[in-house]
Amino acid sequence: MMFEYIFGPVMSSRLGSSLGIDLLGCKVCSFDCLYCESGKTEIKTIKRAACVSLESIASELQTWFETYEQRSDFITLGGQGEPCLNSCLGEIIQSIKQMPLDIPVAVLTNSSMLSDPQVRKELCAADVVLPSLDSLVESEFKKINRPHPSIDLKGLAQGLLDFRQEFQGKIFLEVLIIPGINDSRENLNRLIDFNSQLRPDRVDITTMSRPGSYLGAELPSSNFLAEWRKAFNATVSPGKVSVTNICTDQSAIRERVLSSVKRRPQTQEQLIRALGVSSSDLDAALSELEGSGLIQSAESKTDFQKFYLVRGKHAG
Ligand code: SF4
Repeated sequence: MMFEYIFGPVMSSRLGSSLGIDLLGCKVCSFDCLYCESGKTEIKTIKRAACVSLESIASELQTWFETYEQRSDFITLGGQGEPCLNSCLGEIIQSIKQMPLDIPVAVLTNSSMLSDPQVRKELCAADVVLPSLDSLVESEFKKINRPHPSIDLKGLAQGLLDFRQEFQGKIFLEVLIIPGINDSRENLNRLIDFNSQLRPDRVDITTMSRPGSYLGAELPSSNFLAEWRKAFNATVSPGKVSVTNICTDQSAIRERVLSSVKRRPQTQEQLIRALGVSSSDLDAALSELEGSGLIQSAESKTDFQKFYLVRGKHAG
């Protein structure tokens, strides 16, 4: 069966093995970040809508767990845009939590919708929320995240602080750095101050480790990253693997590879570990998908690893 909204699992350095659920179905976001791995934002909005229904997700999840024995450390709501824009978010989280899966639910968010009390209330049902906040300097925020014009940075930051007060689960804050864009001393100082009020359970200082949409992005030096990580006492937890069965059906492998790289560029090694496929089966699937023009490869600027991604969605 072809899954439209479920993808992966993907190996994530922040969560380990994570089964992704795309709550948007296409690139719908309140931001159009320079580093976005899903390509350019097609619909930039702050209006919530039932982009993907609870029924579609619940039925795919049930089929997924009947088809594959593969376990993951998290079920992660995210996908090709901002998941809080899905007005069924609360119902979707509640419904997954009621399934007999015993897998924690994580939600990725760009924090822009947290100023809405209804969104905060819905998110409170999750186990882990991973908000991002790249800059508290207005000009940098606009440059790196290219937000919808009605998003106010102060309101966004206050929404995050309010959420901290209301949420009993864990918050893993992410700050992604692009040199020359949001690496200023002013931003560092503001984020340190903000962090002491937010008191997240973890801070991840990251950079563009996979091909994104911004051609001109430079990478911060390891000394620079170490300095910022030290300032926040930040760590990046190593990904865990929990593959329990091996998938050998070639057409199923091709579909899963395509569906997974559509949401996140990945290396061969990451795909093997995350999808539980053999190296030769993956090679065959990759060359067929590349040959038919559906995917392409690109080199990472950090470590020159080869990533596979959907053709035409990313610039570099
Ligand atoms: S990185 Fe996230 S917040 Fe930014 S444009 Fe992409 S999906 Fe939206």
